[in-house]
Amino acid sequence: MKKGKLVIFSAPSGSGKTTLVRHLLDYPDLNLAFSISATSRKKRCGETDGVDYYFISPSEFKEKIDQNAFVEWEEVYKDNYYGTLKSEVDKLLNEGKNVIFDIDVQGGRNIKKQYPDNSLAVFVQPPSIEELKKRLEQRKTETPEKIDMRVAKAAEELSYAKDFDVIIYNDDLDNAKKEAYKIVKDFLK
Ligand code: ADP
Ligand code: 5GP
Repeated sequence: MKKGKLVIFSAPSGSGKTTLVRHLLDYPDLNLAFSISATSRKKRCGETDGVDYYFISPSEFKEKIDQNAFVEWEEVYKDNYYGTLKSEVDKLLNEGKNVIFDIDVQGGRNIKKQYPDNSLAVFVQPPSIEELKKRLEQRKTETPEKIDMRVAKAAEELSYAKDFDVIIYNDDLDNAKKEAYKIVKDFLK
């Protein structure tokens, strides 16, 4: 069986990467499977364990770190740990799938370093930090403090865009969706 490839979508929170990743998962021709990360953050309304994330406690997360179970992990926000499980990536590749990741900027750079030859690292660029804040407010999933925490990280994260293979500018969503499909389709050819 031909070994699958890795497609990494990273960006500051609120840029639109989850929206684009979900869009791409609707195309059967791309043969993509979503890498479900583990996290110690609380489940949001509408999220399902084993679908959006594997929701685990901080102590379980720390056990997995000790067991070397992660390809990469990070404390993305204070006391909120997120990580990509080795078992998840191996399972999907063994099923013959291409694996798509929706992870933060440091995590994206980390995965790219570990799979330099068979991965595409995509950075989703928002029009501005103000717009990013507005999108987070409109998404209505975070408290004002959590939005501020995410926005505060964004400027530094934007400075790493140059480390990625390609940048998608997400201003007009329909255009960004079309561009995302084209870029990923070309890479998987
Ligand atoms: P991320 O996964 O990067 O945190 P999301 O995909 O959750 O971002 O998008 C953040 C919010 O912005 C969502 O409510 C989404 O519907 C909205 N959004 C995404 N792209 C655009 C866009 N181009 N224009 C306006 N709103 C957008
Ligand atoms: P959220 O809490 O909004 O679901 O995610 C917060 C941030 O953590 C997002 O930027 C998301 O992409 C990132 N993230 C999700 N899973 C992982 C992961 O496995 N590793 C890393 N490093 N970041 C992740």
